[in-house]
Amino acid sequence: MTHGTNAVQIKTAGLSGEHNWRPTSFMPCPIVNKCARCKEFKSIFEFYFIKSKVGSGRATTNGKRVAIYCKKCQSDRYKESPIEAKILNACKKRAKEKGLEFTLRLEDIVIPTHCPMLGIPLFPTTGQAAHANSPSLDRLDPRKGYTTENTVVISHRANTIKSNATPEELRLIADYTERALAERGNAKTARPVPD
Ligand SMILES: [Zn+2]
Repeated sequence: MTHGTNAVQIKTAGLSGEHNWRPTSFMPCPIVNKCARCKEFKSIFEFYFIKSKVGSGRATTNGKRVAIYCKKCQSDRYKESPIEAKILNACKKRAKEKGLEFTLRLEDIVIPTHCPMLGIPLFPTTGQAAHANSPSLDRLDPRKGYTTENTVVISHRANTIKSNATPEELRLIADYTERALAERGNAKTARPVPD
C-alpha cells in the first residue's frame, strides 16, 4: 500500500489516496495533521481549530491553528479524565468568560464524601447531565473569583438552590417559605389546604 517511510495514507472522505509527504513543524500541512494521541494522520477538519494565532496547537499553512489531538481523542481524553479535572476545566472556562480571578490548581479540587451544605452524599456523574448529587464547585462569595479561600465543593442540588444568593437572601427565602407554609396550615406540599 504505502511506498517508503514517508508515505501518508489519508483515510478521510474526500481526501483519499496516497501522499508521499509527511507534515513536519517546518512544513505544516494545510489539509492533514497527525494526532498526538492516536498518531493517525487525519484531515484538519477532524481537529478543533484554535482561535488564537499563537500559543497552543499546531500551525497549518493556511494560517490557522489546530489542536494537537483529534476531536475523537479530545473527547476520549475528557471522558477518561478524573472528575476533579473536569470541574477545574469548567471553572477555568467560566472564570475567563466572566473575567474572574482564577488561581485554583487540580490539587485544590477536593471532593468530600458528602455535601457540606445539605449533607447528601456526593458521587460523580457517570452520564452527561449533572444530577442532585454531582459534585459542584461553589464560589462562597459570588462577586469574588475562583480561589481556595472562596471555593468549596458542594452538591449540584445545593449549588442550584444557592446560585449567586447572599446568606441574607437565602435566610429571607427560607423564612418566608416556612412562614407562608405555616400560615396555610401545610408544611409539606406548599399548597393551600381546602377547609
Ligand atoms: Zn487522535
